[in-house]
Amino acid sequence: MKLNHHSKSCQIIINKKITNFQNLETQRTADTTPDLQNNDEKSKINYFTNKISSDCKLARELHEASLQSHWYIEQPKEIVDKRIVKLKKQQKNHKVVVLDLDETLIYHKNDQSIIRPFCKQFLDRLSKICTLVLFTAAKIEHATNMLKLIDPNKQYFKAVCTIDNMIGKVKDLRIFQTDLKDIVIIDNSPYNFIAQINNGLPILPFEGQNDDNQLEELLSYLEDLLLVDDVRIELAKKFKLQQFYKELNGRQAINKLYS
Ligand SMILES: [Mg+2]
Repeated sequence: MKLNHHSKSCQIIINKKITNFQNLETQRTADTTPDLQNNDEKSKINYFTNKISSDCKLARELHEASLQSHWYIEQPKEIVDKRIVKLKKQQKNHKVVVLDLDETLIYHKNDQSIIRPFCKQFLDRLSKICTLVLFTAAKIEHATNMLKLIDPNKQYFKAVCTIDNMIGKVKDLRIFQTDLKDIVIIDNSPYNFIAQINNGLPILPFEGQNDDNQLEELLSYLEDLLLVDDVRIELAKKFKLQQFYKELNGRQAINKLYS
């Protein structure tokens, strides 16, 4: 199965990091996932890497999240149990897609909320092929107000989670009591999914651009991804988030992260 549609610009940034990483001597001993790219895919990467800066905010955040995922200590079951969300899947074999809200589906500027282009079609199509959950790091009042804009007829989301469902600053997927092979979390802030980094699907933040096409590309990617048995295997192969931090080291990392 070919999974090469998604979030091209997001993938490009990641591919650049990986390409740089592959040039480092340290890579020889690193425990990377085998490189499965064919020549065609490699030439596309070269074309795009000239245009994209690896210093962008998302690249820095991915680096940090990748590192943090190795240090993350799973919180005890009692803490998870207090935040359980019961999910009623539409169909037994349906996968679960957990969607972030701000800067993933919507952006706020000067008291205005701008819905990401293609959002309605994205939710409409996706809600038919998986079980959709909204998970915001904000409070319920904010979620309720935004849902009036993006899901006015309450037809897309099977559950809405807020800051009260988070463990610290992390969206720990264990609260859904679903096999982790069946869950994808999409978020513009990768730190949110460090508890299960191989379930994470990063997306470039939406900051009000009219020509944004990330949701359109993401939908194409998801339509394939949701057919696989274990999403973690595909996501790890594509984004390599667990190894992402190895591209930078020492001073480089500090400069890039905190400059
Ligand atoms: Mg967000």
